[in-house]
Amino acid sequence: MRTVFDRDLIKKYDKPGPRYTSYPPATEFTTEVGPKEYRERLLQSNSRKTPLSLYFHIPFCESGCYYCGCNIIISHRKGIERPYLERVYREMDMLVSLLDGDRKVEQLHWGGGTPNYLDSEEIREFMDQIKKRFTFSEDAEVSIEIDPRYATDDQLRTIKEVGFNRISMGLQDLDEKVQRAINRIQPYSLMVDTMKKLRDLGFESINIDLIYGLPYQTRESFRRTVEKVIELDPDRVAVYSFAYVPWVKPIQKMINPDTLPSPEEKLSILEMVIEEFQDAGYVYIGMDHFAKPNDELAVAQREGKLWRNFQGYTTRKGVELIGIGATSIGMLYDSYFQNFKTLREYNEAVDRGELPTFRGYILTEDDFIRREVIMDIMCNLGVSFEKIERMFDISFEDYFEKELEDLKQLEEDGLIQVKDRRINILPVGRLLIRNVAMVFDAHLRNKKERRFSRTI
Ligand code: SF4
Repeated sequence: MRTVFDRDLIKKYDKPGPRYTSYPPATEFTTEVGPKEYRERLLQSNSRKTPLSLYFHIPFCESGCYYCGCNIIISHRKGIERPYLERVYREMDMLVSLLDGDRKVEQLHWGGGTPNYLDSEEIREFMDQIKKRFTFSEDAEVSIEIDPRYATDDQLRTIKEVGFNRISMGLQDLDEKVQRAINRIQPYSLMVDTMKKLRDLGFESINIDLIYGLPYQTRESFRRTVEKVIELDPDRVAVYSFAYVPWVKPIQKMINPDTLPSPEEKLSILEMVIEEFQDAGYVYIGMDHFAKPNDELAVAQREGKLWRNFQGYTTRKGVELIGIGATSIGMLYDSYFQNFKTLREYNEAVDRGELPTFRGYILTEDDFIRREVIMDIMCNLGVSFEKIERMFDISFEDYFEKELEDLKQLEEDGLIQVKDRRINILPVGRLLIRNVAMVFDAHLRNKKERRFSRTI
């Protein structure tokens, strides 16, 4: 079903809201939940015998992109990654001492920063250290983010050899003027060349990230980027909205706000993006993501099995996510935990022999119910009352009396349909799923003012 772009409705509903990579979102995490609770919950998680998903954060980059919103350390000086890697190995030691050895890893992801800041030898060593401590299932999804500007042939071969089968690359925009303004020069020829190498090496899935709303972007200039990306034929594409927040991310002060597209132009760019990718046969998964119809994200969505975690959409709902390295977030079935964000605090905690957890959240009974509803809205584009009733032994209409009342306005506007005890997201509502999910967010209801990015 094609997503429909309704400019008036988008304007009406464009307000700040969480992206629901978790429910409750990370803004609800508290420092009252720390390493002690993490240790307890990790031990308890063994009784569930759930498979694991491992996320490793590599926070280093060779150069700084002016739009960057990540927690990074920019350095050309090789060597700073060594002491970090040693700490990551020690953090893994602490974790494996708490986790049952028969819990297999079904997913592994290296994110950043720039994971290919590590040279081939370090990539090999790092993966060896992981495999020494964890057992992988045969069909594990093993993915990595790379920066093609710094990826050598040897690194790409090594990444494949050590077992990665999925790759994600940032591209953002191909226009030279935009690239200069964001300090990220990345010619199309480099992308063509890298894509060919990755295909020749046999990677199963290749994702490209783009950003709309960057300086000097127009609908027509970005259309040229989108057309060229379609020619590259990636399996998945993510098109993120640029959030200009220089008071939070000082590197963004390098961008002159006068060069940013107006909100009206930005909407027009988004409209074009949705049309172009859908015309090219991609399925709009939701929340900035497109995938080919036979990609497992699209298949899982059709089958109602999609889920979200801190890396975005995932097909593996039943796994428990263990975040390793600075800033990483872990998601156990009943709790979330985040590591220290600064390298100094992360290193100090590991050196003390403690899990470097600085905050977390333990879900309440109510959170469990609402999480299921919100994730079904965000991922599977509908909620079955019966399914929620079966899972939690509640009456949906009684439990969500107020929410169902609030949904009436969204139904009148054509975003959703409530029929046969099911909420269905309609084509016009696809771009506004966050607004539908927000109706069920009890934490948002309880807080008058939150600082989230706008829904579009
Ligand atoms: S956008 Fe990516 S490569 Fe650029 S500075 Fe941020 S993390 Fe590093």
